[in-house]
Amino acid sequence: MSTSHNPFSIAQRQLDEAAQVLKLEPAVHEFLRWPMREFHVRIPVRMDDGSVRVFEGFRVQYNNARGPTKGGIRFHPEETFDTVRALAAWMTWKTAVMDLPLGGGKGGVVCNPKEMSLGELERLSRGYIRALGHYIGPNVDVPAPDVYTNPQVMAWMLDEYEKMVGESAPGVITGKPLSLGGSAGRGDATARGGVYTIREAAKVLGLELKGATCAIQGYGNAGQFAHKLGAELLGLKVVAVSDSKGGVYSPEGLDYEAVMAHKRETGSVVGFPGAQSITNEELLELDVVVLIPAALENQIGEWNADKIKAKIVAELANGPTTPEGDEILHERGVYVIPDFLCNAGGVTVSYFEQVQNAYNYYWPEEMVHERLDQKMTTAFHAVHEAAQKHKVHNRLGAYVVAVSRVAEAMKLRGWV
Ligand code: NAD
Repeated sequence: MSTSHNPFSIAQRQLDEAAQVLKLEPAVHEFLRWPMREFHVRIPVRMDDGSVRVFEGFRVQYNNARGPTKGGIRFHPEETFDTVRALAAWMTWKTAVMDLPLGGGKGGVVCNPKEMSLGELERLSRGYIRALGHYIGPNVDVPAPDVYTNPQVMAWMLDEYEKMVGESAPGVITGKPLSLGGSAGRGDATARGGVYTIREAAKVLGLELKGATCAIQGYGNAGQFAHKLGAELLGLKVVAVSDSKGGVYSPEGLDYEAVMAHKRETGSVVGFPGAQSITNEELLELDVVVLIPAALENQIGEWNADKIKAKIVAELANGPTTPEGDEILHERGVYVIPDFLCNAGGVTVSYFEQVQNAYNYYWPEEMVHERLDQKMTTAFHAVHEAAQKHKVHNRLGAYVVAVSRVAEAMKLRGWV
């Protein structure tokens, strides 16, 4: 990975820009450029063939000035310490921009879950908690699912933790199955939160969204629900979608249920009847009103930012736009809803899950939706106003809001 596309170098560069705008004191800036605390562990796992494999695991607790650190655990063959550090930094800004009483953290294990049996995955999940269980907790550091981890993995981890501490402790982890203290509305929360921010962006831009065209890159949890809810709640006409195998385009619009049925049957959106094939690169450059990157990092950069035609880019993925891409989009008047605002619906409902666990009383789904809407709408306007006030692009506006909140908490505690 080149330094310029190393996610942690990007996260540090973004913070450096915000530090300039905020005229951050050197000690505050230096403290925030690095994780407060990090763990690097080895996890021995008995495999089905009787051998023992040793996996490499990480947990980064980036900053806890505003509350317990919070962030998912990713199981991925290409996981690196720097990816985990970047994601932990972004979690710190995400919880702060949403004004949640939490800090930021992230975890990961280098492994390929697609090649592991269920039993091996369970032993790995439990091993991760045995290695780190003494350093997490409902009031310390609270993990959640991320790429290739899911509610079942959270259930095994919760069980292992509760065995270690000898009591019920559902608030130690979020994204749990409903029957183990999960929250209603967690499944589609990331996309739903993003859709609320698109609605608010259209209001400040004076754009009509009913019938407006939309393209979505990535068709996993975030992308699929963005298709469904974008159509249902905003009346968007989704004309293109894609996954790792390629994309499809239909100017008449793509029906959510029909695309899902095709993906379930064939494993991909590619080959959806009646639609044209397009590449992921072509999808990004389509003449649509709303573009939703919902797959990977580094999709929009100096190589294609001048070809993006969308009026709104709503970043459900983490890190889809490089700093150079940001500058170009801003100069061209494209309205970017930055990742740690746009995709904050997931962590916000995770926070609601912790609140419900703490008082052991559970909310109906409508209440979750209503409170999520309030949180997303308030955060959106705080970011929009900061960007306008400082005459900077929205990502920098979001950094200004988030970093000043974390810096204030650090100062009040007397750390800096
Ligand atoms: P997922 O694993 O469910 O889906 C990822 C999708 O991206 C899949 O459809 C995959 O085929 C597709 N994809 C992979 N490589 C691609 C490529 N080169 N081009 C186009 N598509 C490709 O993951 P997810 O949970 O939907 O997460 C997607 C993004 O959203 C990630 O950046 C993740 O960090 C971010 N995010 C997700 C959540 C959440 O709650 N799910 C919350 C915050 C941020």
